[in-house]
Amino acid sequence: MRIVILGTGGYHPNERRHTACVMIPERGIIFDAGTGFFRVPQFVEQKKLNVFLSHAHFDHIIGLTFPLVALHRKEIEAIRIFGDAKTLQAVQIHLFAEPTFPVVPDFEYVELAESTTVPGNGILTYCPLNHPGGSIGFRIDWPETSLAYITDTIADGTYTDFVAGVDLLIHECNFPDSGVDLAKMTGHSYTTSVARVAAEASVKRLVLTHIDPQLTSDDPIDLSVAQAIFRETTIAQDLDEIEL
Ligand SMILES: [Zn+2]
Ligand SMILES: [Zn+2]
Repeated sequence: MRIVILGTGGYHPNERRHTACVMIPERGIIFDAGTGFFRVPQFVEQKKLNVFLSHAHFDHIIGLTFPLVALHRKEIEAIRIFGDAKTLQAVQIHLFAEPTFPVVPDFEYVELAESTTVPGNGILTYCPLNHPGGSIGFRIDWPETSLAYITDTIADGTYTDFVAGVDLLIHECNFPDSGVDLAKMTGHSYTTSVARVAAEASVKRLVLTHIDPQLTSDDPIDLSVAQAIFRETTIAQDLDEIEL
């Protein structure tokens, strides 16, 4: 299964990273709809898309305003948006408010049940995360493999059991260790904290994303620090493809 990372930045886009979006084309599954969502049409394999939103901060939902042309051209046939009640309400009332975006797309909104069956005989579950205003993390277990997508949270270990043993953990790492105070203040993660969660959860592989857009170097979060704690760690770049 191919996973495409369409946006790897947090907060706002910069010259090398768009904001949060992860797509599994053959399953029609997308996590978050940040600015990276503009890339979705070029990767569509299933014309019915299921979008799972972690929360309603703009860097995770603004891309929902992008697919109107692809819908009009039938490159995409339908989009279902999954989230908790608060997030779905924010999208419908605030993002698609008449003064901000007067065309209301014909999306279907689905409040997350305790578990959701997804294409490929997968079971999706979610858990609450510690972030200002709240966020939720996702896990999908298919018969042959598993992944978890955890973003916008302090890596406080409260969800270690939830992600335990997954083949792939995609996790935010907004800051290097030097940003620990900012991480705690803004409800985000820093390098050592994420690597510890991956090690304690005995995941197979860790991919770091949602990088602070002020940090534009090749190694914004000191990868070697993470790898010293959890060896199978990489930093995602926009348009990276991961085989799972
Ligand atoms: Zn964010
Ligand atoms: Zn957020």
